[in-house]
Parts: sequence; structure tokens; C-alpha cells
Amino acid sequence: MLKIKTFVSGMLSNNTYLLFSGTSKPRRKGILIDPTGCFDAVNNFIDKESIEIIAVFLTHGHFDHVLDVPKWQNRGIKVFAHPKEMFNLNSNRTVQMLKALGLPNILINEELTEKKYVFDDIIIDVIHTPGHTEGSCCFVVEDNIFSGDTLFFKSFGRTDFPDGDFDKIKKSLIKLFTYSDLDYKVYPGHEEVSSLYFEKTHNPILMYF
Ligand SMILES: [Zn+2]
Repeated sequence: MLKIKTFVSGMLSNNTYLLFSGTSKPRRKGILIDPTGCFDAVNNFIDKESIEIIAVFLTHGHFDHVLDVPKWQNRGIKVFAHPKEMFNLNSNRTVQMLKALGLPNILINEELTEKKYVFDDIIIDVIHTPGHTEGSCCFVVEDNIFSGDTLFFKSFGRTDFPDGDFDKIKKSLIKLFTYSDLDYKVYPGHEEVSSLYFEKTHNPILMYF
């Protein structure tokens, strides 16, 4: 059974998610989504729970979502992100923020495409959802959707960035809303958890359809 631990950090209240298996193996495997500003807290938790981090997945490359990524990459952990996010990972803003923390630039080790990534009993179904950024992705894991800055509780991501596009985020959300086989919980990049069913009936983007 999948377990999800949320770490909130920074002035923008970013959510870092740790996915791990609930089974009591001697050494459990964990996957981080958008690790940022909580490196010590995550380390304390994984030490206590005997979890080994095996991959980092990025919903997109904006600086506020990635500030711990070089620290995990330094440990040899692979970073999975959409190739179009090199635009944001290499942006002045991200590079300067990392530099101020004494950290190197981020590399993508595995370029995400729309498919299922299998890590033992954790299966991540990647959906490319451009709009907030060109390479934004959402991750479906069992009945949970990690939506980055694409879908929020009664809201959706900004599209006024250089690679943002309102028509694309609208299309991406329509695509996401077709997931209806399960009662999906939505774990966004900021703020509180929602559900896909609730957003289908309450999200303001529907007013623009
Ligand atoms: Zn963003």
C-alpha cells in the first residue's frame, strides 16, 4: 500500500512529496516529487523509517520546486523530468537561486515521456500537461494525482511565464479530467489536497471552456 508524506517549505509554501511502500521491508524504496527546501527533514524521516530514495521526479523546473535536487543528484539519485523543462532548470532565476545556496545546476538523467515508470510496487503513470510550463507533467500513482502547478484546489497554474500558455493548460486539464475510473485525490505543488471529482465540478477553468 502506497504511503505519501508531505513536506511544506519556503516562502511559497511548496509541497515536496515522498512516496514509499507501506510494506515493512527491511529497506523500503522511496520516490521524491519536487524536492525543495526540506532536505534535512526528508533525511530525518527516511532514516527513521528505513527508506532508500531511488528516484526524483519533477513536475516542472521552476526554482521553487527544485532547490534540493542537486543534493539528491550528488548522491547518485536519478532525476526524471520532461526534456522541455531544461528551459526552466537552466533559467537565470533557477541557476542564481541554486548558486546562492552553493549548489550546481540540475541535469535531467531520464527524460520523461507519457508512459508508466515501474519501481517495484510503485508505478508512476506520467501525463504530459503543458500550459503552466511547456514540459509540465502530472503523475498518477494508484488513486493519487500529483499535479504540480497545473491543477490546484479550485484553481489552476499561472500561464504568464515565457513558456506558459492558457489554451494549453485548458487542454491539459480537460485531459486530466478524463481520468474518471477512480476517485482520484489531487496533490498539488502548493496548498491543500483536493480531489479530481471536486475539481471537475468546481474548478474555475471550466468557466473558460
Ligand atoms: Zn511553477
